[in-house]
Amino acid sequence: MSNSAPGGAGVTSKAVDGFPKVLEAALKRVATCECDIDTSCYARLRSYSNQAIHRNLQRGIAFEPLECLAPSTISRRFTLE
Ligand SMILES: [Zn+2]
Repeated sequence: MSNSAPGGAGVTSKAVDGFPKVLEAALKRVATCECDIDTSCYARLRSYSNQAIHRNLQRGIAFEPLECLAPSTISRRFTLE
């Protein structure tokens, strides 16, 4: 099966290949902030465009799944076992 749409399969493949880096960047973003874990701030998660959901953005909630999925965390867990 092939995808002849411009940028179709090639773009998807690049997105999949880059996903571990996205996870790492997201983990670093939520792990390294000085605001409380049950809230968020403009340094990390908040922006003008998502202001309607600011009260729902809690970096602690974002941290847990990212810590489980990020490649550095996975490799660290394998090292420890
Ligand atoms: Zn913050």
